[in-house]
Amino acid sequence: MEVARAVTDAAVKNVSDGDLTIRWREVLAGEKSFKTSGEWLPEATLDTVKSHGIALKGPLTTPVGGGIRSLNVTLRQRLDLYASVRPVRYFQGVPSPVKNPQKVNIVIFRENTEDVYKGIEWSQGSNEAAELASFLEDRMGVKLPPGSGIGIKPISEAASKRLVRAAFNYALKKGLGSVTLVHKGNIMKFTEGAFRNWGYEVAFEEFSGTVISESEMTKLGLKAVPSGRILVNDRIADNMFQQILTRPEEFSVLATPNLNGDYLADACAAQVGGLGVAPGANIGDEVAVFEAVHGSAPKYAGKDVANPCSLILSSAMMLEHLGLAEATKAIEKAVAETFSENILTQDLARMSSVPVVAAGTREFGDEIIRRLA
Ligand code: NAP
Repeated sequence: MEVARAVTDAAVKNVSDGDLTIRWREVLAGEKSFKTSGEWLPEATLDTVKSHGIALKGPLTTPVGGGIRSLNVTLRQRLDLYASVRPVRYFQGVPSPVKNPQKVNIVIFRENTEDVYKGIEWSQGSNEAAELASFLEDRMGVKLPPGSGIGIKPISEAASKRLVRAAFNYALKKGLGSVTLVHKGNIMKFTEGAFRNWGYEVAFEEFSGTVISESEMTKLGLKAVPSGRILVNDRIADNMFQQILTRPEEFSVLATPNLNGDYLADACAAQVGGLGVAPGANIGDEVAVFEAVHGSAPKYAGKDVANPCSLILSSAMMLEHLGLAEATKAIEKAVAETFSENILTQDLARMSSVPVVAAGTREFGDEIIRRLA
């Protein structure tokens, strides 16, 4: 976070000739907050983010299988940050596990408030699970295996439609060629399948002059999307995982329910160097929170070895949201130049085919700042 802030400050200063500065205000959540106030997510933190309308957030730890509920999920729900936006692109010079990482230029729009993020579940053996199991058996004719934990996966029309709408608006604004609805609707017809159907409704009802479907393309015998149109298509999630590897260049924007998007975003990020280089934002109508896509990486935290790029590029997204697109471009250019000169943090240096001395977190940040000047 310290490095990301320094890069952001330098970019804003440089593009405005020193006229603009960001006045950062730190508000606490997670361990640091718990240690000082006994609260994991103070109301004052939420209020401040709400009143400012914007935040840059560091990763927060969530225990698996028990303990506190995810603060990230709580933040997204309480602030109604319904779209998780993750642009994944390749920077020349970054070692990658695939042959043609430059073909990946995909933005994932993931629904951020429901599906598994609703967190509705009861543990096996609990009274609630027993009661629900009886209800399902007696009233719905569904018998669950004994000893089942039970989770509920709600996907609503309103939340699906606003997410898909945001994806189309983004594609329009950025001049991108396609929006692909990703779902597992062949198996879960009324949640995942409904997401797909609602997505097409948004496309055809709200963007009718702008979109063209795959079937229309086939009917008209078109090989390429006509200029000014956005292709709307859909893919079943498992096939989508194949296609981001076999033909990534055919996809621009993916609109997904929560869980599929979570997996896909990391799978796409892996192709361009991993979680350390992919930025993210959680965007609602009133508030936007920008954050690294990775978690707190406990084995690296505080050791000056973590790759700061994900947070730096998230901060660059934040600057664009604030109307400072020039500063965004300056950061992206400086990051690209740093990578192209083979300056890499340890996560990337270890993937390099030629020996590279890994830069520390601060050193890497300084290299970016030097290229901003
Ligand atoms: P993680 O913190 O994202 O780390 C997973 C792996 O990704 C690391 O072991 C490391 O891979 C690589 N990595 C992540 N950040 C990196 C960085 N900045 N530089 C270089 N490599 C990086 O995921 P996790 O270990 O599954 O989760 C740890 C905690 O973070 C959990 O409590 C989880 O709930 C939380 N989390 C928070 C957020 C969030 O705040 N938005 C998101 C995801 C997870 P190698 O081991 O291969 O080096």
